[in-house]
Amino acid sequence: CGIVGYVGSRPALDVVVEGLARLEYRGYDSAGVALLAEDGTLATAKRAGKLVNLREALAEEPPPAGTLGMGHTRWATHGAPNDRNAHPHTDCGGTIAVIHNGIIENFAALRAELEEGGHKLASDTDTETVAHLLEDELKSGGTLADAMRAVCRRLEGAFTLVAVHAGDPDLVVGARRNSPLVVGVGDGENFLASDVAAFIEHTRDALELGQDQVVELRPSGVTVTDFDGAPATVREYHVDWDV
Ligand code: GLU
Repeated sequence: CGIVGYVGSRPALDVVVEGLARLEYRGYDSAGVALLAEDGTLATAKRAGKLVNLREALAEEPPPAGTLGMGHTRWATHGAPNDRNAHPHTDCGGTIAVIHNGIIENFAALRAELEEGGHKLASDTDTETVAHLLEDELKSGGTLADAMRAVCRRLEGAFTLVAVHAGDPDLVVGARRNSPLVVGVGDGENFLASDVAAFIEHTRDALELGQDQVVELRPSGVTVTDFDGAPATVREYHVDWDV
């Protein structure tokens, strides 16, 4: 339902949780975050219910500090709205985390293929398949962005996907088809979200991703390609309204 991602120099947890609060008006049944520390430690926390439940869980067990993170509010389509099905979802190795808005129509076939290949899936969601597909792609080499492009070429349906990988603690990768994804361009920091409301207090310089595009977000800059890896152009705009 709602997505926010951040990479820069501030404590990512604050930016991400405040971003999710800005998206609360959309309605949701669960919320979660993933944080990636400089040393590659990946931590996730997720709770069914309102953001206050997630905030309590984070206060009880604070994740390691980091300047890269992402957050999600879920509106369940596949799997009950409980803690286990809340996003982020991770791969078997626990080094990749994924959040998703939308529906992956062919997830049942992908899930069956993954289970045949030995993957153990922990949730009932369509989303989790993406974490495991990324895991397999990364094993065959390339970067998280390469893996995301390869996985997106196999997906059917509507999706905004955001992923992080412990092996590249400077990078947030996003992708979209039939579902919105906007980038907020800052100075030494960059944002992405399903809606500019999530980052508008930090930057009003935005990029609107086109259909079937992948974005790589680092503190130093933003790169956008299509699903085949060819450089893509995006619409740049300045958000001059108040949200
Ligand atoms: N289909 C996914 C799920 O049920 C994502 C739903 C959403 O857009 O929040 O977990």
